[in-house]
Amino acid sequence: MLYAVYIQSVKTARVKRFLYWAGVCDVQWQFTSGWLKQARRCESPHFNARPEAEVSLLVIHNISLPAGCFGLPYIDALFQGCLDVQADASFACLADLQVSAHFLIRRDGEIVQYVSCDDRAWHAGLSSFQGRENCNDFAIGIELEGTDELAYTEQQYLQLDRLTRQLLQEYPLLSPERIVGHSDIAPGRKTDPGASFDWHRYLGGLAG
Ligand SMILES: [Zn+2]
Repeated sequence: MLYAVYIQSVKTARVKRFLYWAGVCDVQWQFTSGWLKQARRCESPHFNARPEAEVSLLVIHNISLPAGCFGLPYIDALFQGCLDVQADASFACLADLQVSAHFLIRRDGEIVQYVSCDDRAWHAGLSSFQGRENCNDFAIGIELEGTDELAYTEQQYLQLDRLTRQLLQEYPLLSPERIVGHSDIAPGRKTDPGASFDWHRYLGGLAG
């Protein structure tokens, strides 16, 4: 009997693993101290403590370095504070910039995490949500590798959906009504994630 239960549990674990790798099942996604186990961890020194330990806003951004170029190591380097500003002429304005985000979703769907969700990453800058300033205090920032003009990839929408669902479970003060673009909380200063981001698809998928 015990052997039968053991065999069944092994089979169940195998099925779950298969479903996970097939992208069908989220059962193995989990957070530990604000770090997503399934993300590639790439720690940034650009963070500090949240003043209220509150997570109640999700901010969607885009980034590409150099602009419009993908799959390169420069975003990791920027967030880790070790970007070689000589590597491209456009990087000169990034010298000594101390920025980060909690997550990056690359064009191929890879998720990279730089800062624990329990800590304050430095992605929103001067910002305001419903009259409350300094959104970094209470927000999680997700960067999509991309631009305002170019369509995001299928893999990015799939991974963003999965990541968002996990965050909604993990942080109960988050809700679909409290998901915004950087351009919403810093109008006139920021334009990302841009017209290329399909909000209808993203938020509609969460509701389904
Ligand atoms: Zn942004």
